[in-house]
Amino acid sequence: MIKYRFPFMAIIGQDDLSLALILNLVNPRIGGVLIRGTKGTGKSTAVYGLPQIAPLIKVHESCSYNCSPEELDRWCPQCKSQQTNTIVEREVEVVSLPMNISEENLSGRIDVERLLKTGDKIFTPGLLAKAHRQILYIDEVNLIPDHITDSLLDVVASGVSTVEREGFSVEHDARFLLIGTMNSEEGELRPQILDRFPLSVTINTIRDVDDRLEIIRRNYAFEADPASFMESFKDVSDMMKQTILAAREMLPEIKIPESLVKNVVDFCVHYMVDGHRPEIVIIKTAIAYAALELKPEVESKHIKMAMKLALLHRTRDGGLKKAVNASDVDSWFDGIKKDREPDRTFSMDYDVQNLSILKGGYLSPSKKSGKVSPN
Ligand SMILES: [Zn+2]
Repeated sequence: MIKYRFPFMAIIGQDDLSLALILNLVNPRIGGVLIRGTKGTGKSTAVYGLPQIAPLIKVHESCSYNCSPEELDRWCPQCKSQQTNTIVEREVEVVSLPMNISEENLSGRIDVERLLKTGDKIFTPGLLAKAHRQILYIDEVNLIPDHITDSLLDVVASGVSTVEREGFSVEHDARFLLIGTMNSEEGELRPQILDRFPLSVTINTIRDVDDRLEIIRRNYAFEADPASFMESFKDVSDMMKQTILAAREMLPEIKIPESLVKNVVDFCVHYMVDGHRPEIVIIKTAIAYAALELKPEVESKHIKMAMKLALLHRTRDGGLKKAVNASDVDSWFDGIKKDREPDRTFSMDYDVQNLSILKGGYLSPSKKSGKVSPN
């Protein structure tokens, strides 16, 4: 049966949220968004509408782990054992995490009885296998039990889900777009969990009268005839999908001026933002934003927006200070002189010879491996 979903492109007035979600489709390695806001502001509607603009994924028809046909070395045992795998292209799914999910249903189950009796290793994949390369959606993430969020965070960090029973373990890839929603009135998230969300957006009830009138019209039309309402937004959804695909292709070519990267680092040092992850997320997000606009180079507009998306939920000074706010980002950039230094492109080449540990003297420079080119 066809499930009708309110079209993503028909959502009105939640521009930051739409942008954050779209940037994650441009570069799925950004990893996800935390959506904060009061009830009835269309958080779930946006998430469930996302597959309509997401590029299709290629999978093996009979695979339960969504193995990518292109990543041969990562295939599950079943895909590896097949002579040929039939490849199908399909829409990305939103896999929703039920609040009362058990550890077994989340990570999968090893049939211990069978293992002990016959030695057969039978593994039933869980929700994390289903979510691989797709969207994992947690509504009210602040209400999920701690032990479930803890195992989830391990997987988010490593991209791999591991189940261990009776000295036997099963591993499979689990990389997904993590989208969580929460209503701050119902309790805050632990800082460790907050920090795992690369981006965050707070959405509020729209105050603009014209926008609210249009929301009424669109919801009325969708309820009356969902099929034709969806159809009327199909062209623009397909255009968005094409733009995302074009942006994906541009990603490796996008340049970023070194001065902008230094501005981000200076800001994070000045405001004592915890950890290094936020800076990495900001650069990744800004590059995706430039690509989405089909610009060859990241501009300060892209950086500013990326900072607002990546920093407004991050604690500072070891968790002692609250996150920065959007006006801190704006005023930081207003205060920067354009000609701070010559605008050369930031080089992503790392230096293999720069070994901090040498300063400790445990390793003499002569024992270092020869020159290795990072390229
Ligand atoms: Zn597979």
